[in-house]
Amino acid sequence: MTKKIAVFPGDGIGIEIVAEAVKVIECLQQEFGLDVEIEEGLIGGAAYDETGSPLPEASLDLARASDAILLGAVGGYKWESLDISVRPEKGLLGLRSELSLFANLRPAILYPQLAHASTLKEEVVSGLDLMIVRELTGGIYFGQPRGIRTLDTQINGKPERQGFNTLVYSESEIERIAHVAFKTAQKRDKRVCSVDKANVLECTELWREVMERVGKEYPDVELSHMYVDNAAMQLVKAPKQFDVMVTTNMFGDILSDCAAMLTGSIGMLPSASLDQNSKGMYEPIHGSAPDIAGQNKANPVATILSVSMMLRHSLAEAGLADKIDQAVAMVLDNGGRTIDIYTEGTRQLSTSEMGDEIVSALKSLNV
Ligand code: NAD
Repeated sequence: MTKKIAVFPGDGIGIEIVAEAVKVIECLQQEFGLDVEIEEGLIGGAAYDETGSPLPEASLDLARASDAILLGAVGGYKWESLDISVRPEKGLLGLRSELSLFANLRPAILYPQLAHASTLKEEVVSGLDLMIVRELTGGIYFGQPRGIRTLDTQINGKPERQGFNTLVYSESEIERIAHVAFKTAQKRDKRVCSVDKANVLECTELWREVMERVGKEYPDVELSHMYVDNAAMQLVKAPKQFDVMVTTNMFGDILSDCAAMLTGSIGMLPSASLDQNSKGMYEPIHGSAPDIAGQNKANPVATILSVSMMLRHSLAEAGLADKIDQAVAMVLDNGGRTIDIYTEGTRQLSTSEMGDEIVSALKSLNV
């Protein structure tokens, strides 16, 4: 049966990089018989400009009716002064929570061709291949109560205010992300490191207890625990010790950006956000890069690799996912580089040239 992919280019470089990813999907349709249809929708600032909402009902309906979603990026200078309730980013958060995309998978893979682009020594990062599984719809970003309240005390002659957020996780929320982490590890090196702050926060004491409990259902996977401060240090000191890291929404937000930078460029890393039934939204980890938008300079590889993750996790087409990964590696081997990963002796490509070279490499694999 024909599967449906909703495509939301969004804002800034989102438009340019998604165009390249769509070329790749079209190549898979034409050359490899991939049975999908693509429908484009509005999100973020572009949607706000057109409809007054960063996530119009029509986009939500399209996302709900699709088997998978490909998203570019949202946001930009133009919308920064808008009220927070209609900012472009709200569209993205709305999509994640409306579709219950609770599991965020962020691989951090260092391509051997780019080993020198990392800020860490080559021997520390070469061969790096870790997966961060971040809980995405719970924790302190969503917990109630939250807000800013006025106290009875005074500061600088004025009533003092107090900001507060709440870290909450129910056992079922922890269980479902634990299952995703263990199942992911089963397909990899069979090691899960759960990251928490169980020595200080009761909520993550429960997190640790539930991880242990769920871990017993996966005897083939080795489970370890690490406090988040140590995990941050270990990521920089010896990142290759990790296979799968599973953690809360906020810790995952911070650690995954840290892990991403070990690999040299933010323009290379894809992500998947999955629901209970492996329906997913796929997007590069970077933003809309307004500083380079509209210049045909952005690196489309993270978005193209997001298509690879989509084929693997939502469309049951792991073979085609491997082909995309191979095509990207071939272009890197041939010295093709966008400006963010360019070094002397390589060939500088524009966004569209990079997309074209990956499509050509893909076609050459159809033998
Ligand atoms: P950013 O990721 O957009 O850019 C950070 C830096 O990385 C910039 O110098 C940019 O030029 C560069 N960069 C990013 N992607 C690149 C690519 N594919 N190729 C080459 N270089 C690339 O982060 P920012 O500047 O903090 O945010 C810009 C806007 O994006 C803001 O409005 C922010 O809210 C939004 N944002 C959106 C998302 C998302 O849509 N998922 C994520 C993060 C930030």
